[in-house]
Amino acid sequence: MPAQLTETEQDSFAHMLAAVQAFHHKHRFNDRGGEDMIYRLALMTEELGEIAECVTKGKTTEELAEECADLLILLMGNAISASFDLNAAFWDKMKVLEGRGERIVDGRVRVTDYQGKKD
Ligand SMILES: [Mg+2]
Repeated sequence: MPAQLTETEQDSFAHMLAAVQAFHHKHRFNDRGGEDMIYRLALMTEELGEIAECVTKGKTTEELAEECADLLILLMGNAISASFDLNAAFWDKMKVLEGRGERIVDGRVRVTDYQGKKD
């Protein structure tokens, strides 16, 4: 991390996205299939599997954090690959979630509009 950045700048969404953009550019993702969403879906599935492995196989919190970072980097890269504003989408969705009620499903809290199976 460059020393001239403040802690706030390092933590900013814009700075993180710029780092992912630089990574895409360095490896020429746009020219070589790295921004194909079907391919990216496979990569995200792979990373989600690695997260599952951390949880189900009792791996360390550090390993879990690394796999979550892998998935976050892919998700941020989706915004570059598919040309959308993930920051705006995040805040729009948070506003929706904050307006939803909660309920308990099988002993666990859910914040969703889903009403469960219709019998
Ligand atoms: Mg990984």
